[in-house]
Amino acid sequence: MNVAYITHPDCLLHSNGLVGGMRHPENARRLTQIQDYLIAQGIEPWLTHLMAPKATRAQLCLAHSPEFVDEIFQSIPAQGGVQFDADVVLMAHTLPAALRAAGSGIAAVDWVLGATARRAFCAIRPPGHHAGRHKAAGFCLFNNAAIAARYALTQSGVNRVAIVDFDVHHGDGTEDIVAGDERILFCSSFQHPFYPHSGLPASAKNCLPVALPQGTRGATWRAACEQAWFSRLAEFAPDLIVISAGFDGHLLDDMGGWGLVEADYAWLTQALVQLANATAKGRIVSLLEGGYDPQALARSVAAHLTALQE
Ligand SMILES: [Zn+2]
Repeated sequence: MNVAYITHPDCLLHSNGLVGGMRHPENARRLTQIQDYLIAQGIEPWLTHLMAPKATRAQLCLAHSPEFVDEIFQSIPAQGGVQFDADVVLMAHTLPAALRAAGSGIAAVDWVLGATARRAFCAIRPPGHHAGRHKAAGFCLFNNAAIAARYALTQSGVNRVAIVDFDVHHGDGTEDIVAGDERILFCSSFQHPFYPHSGLPASAKNCLPVALPQGTRGATWRAACEQAWFSRLAEFAPDLIVISAGFDGHLLDDMGGWGLVEADYAWLTQALVQLANATAKGRIVSLLEGGYDPQALARSVAAHLTALQE
């Protein structure tokens, strides 16, 4: 299987500044650590490396209101940082990073639809799944996964897209955008109760929440995901699977309270690979969301990529 690794140097330039004198957990080292680890593990050479283009305004508006998109563009400062939302900082380098992050999903869809036996992983920041139709939140500006899914639905041969979000936080932005859109099935596992305090009950029939408490380990998480999602996914028969790949449910990640490990991420990825092979010509587009312990993140991404390659 040919796996594209899509990123852009602009994604390194966005900064959330300092928190209590320490570097904000959503920082550029997340991406450099992934890249270093993939090289060290010998994974990097078998990936097809692509540069993320900038998403266009029309592509952003597949998931966001034009008013919101304009507000972001107009709020970017020439220098320094602006606190746009409680957890969203805007600086001059933020817009290029966010446009590349959203554009990576567009390029990933084009890549997997362009030939057979292709998948793609987007190593990007800022993440996207907390960004809703009219709002930025939780380090997220534009909803990269929802934009990719909606873009794919404009392409011939793509009538149904499954979005699977395994970040430890509920993808409230994605649910806000896709709830009630029957062309999309949104499967999301998340710690509950926890930030952003949403996801239950599901806001529409096409949203399948798996809400599990602090302290959840892999065996419980696997059983819950399998029960809630697998038969519904097979029945839905997606033409493409989009993954919101957040690795902050890792045991070593103190942004969340779960105890998942690399093998758990590999397990779900393998299950999605089987589903994609059965209904979606193998097509999977995966986009990085959270994951704030750089080493655990890098190892988890390596396990995810290895499973995608199979
Ligand atoms: Zn998260």
